[in-house]
Amino acid sequence: EIINSDMKQRQLLADALEDTKKQKKLLQEALDNYKQADYDRRTDFLTGLRNRQDMFELLQDTLSGRRDSIKAMFMMDIDNFKMLNDHYGHVAGDRCLQKIGAALTQYGKEHNMYFYRYGGEEMLGISFGSDKPDSETAQELVQLIYDLQLKRDDLERGVVTISLGYTSDNSEYEKMIDKADAAMYKAKANGKNQAVCYEQGGQ
Ligand code: GH3
Ligand code: MG
Ligand code: MG
Repeated sequence: EIINSDMKQRQLLADALEDTKKQKKLLQEALDNYKQADYDRRTDFLTGLRNRQDMFELLQDTLSGRRDSIKAMFMMDIDNFKMLNDHYGHVAGDRCLQKIGAALTQYGKEHNMYFYRYGGEEMLGISFGSDKPDSETAQELVQLIYDLQLKRDDLERGVVTISLGYTSDNSEYEKMIDKADAAMYKAKANGKNQAVCYEQGGQ
């Protein structure tokens, strides 16, 4: 009788353990699914860069003090991208965007920065503070894309480049975007493949 009851207890425990294991597995699956869905929701499909939805949430969190304030913004636009598309086709253009997106995402991980696909071939970098001056970061970003050596024989220069405008005036975020954008157009007007600071002649 006692032995019988002991065996029953053991079986019950074994069943309970099995149930717990199953539940844990289900929970883990649900968590993985959630993480994937959350990543998808905030990531641009083509480039792997953060998307506008993610940027909107970041700006809201920053404004409400839920996260660190933004120290600088860097607006980047690929030089003569339309020509590249016309010459090599849109598939090649897409591949180029993917490589640039991957390089920026990697740079962001190493330098405490976020990179967003702002528009078609426009990307925005957000810095939360860095040891190095923003001017150095701006130079490094222009160089980073140049160093990818994405070949193009439709242009004399021969590789894909970007023009970059940036601002370190962290007063209002919407104004920062406009300032970085204005400086980026100055970089285009100055001959492209370069960085211009809004506060230093980029207005
Ligand atoms: P600029 O140096 O003045 O920036 O010249 P640009 O030719 O780069 O500028 P423009 O704004 O005239 O052209 C941008 C091009 O980017 C046009 C559009 O077809 C291309 N583009 C935008 N999004 C994508 C995309 O997802 N894939 C591809 N392949 N091309 C894209
Ligand atoms: Mg553009
Ligand atoms: Mg362009």
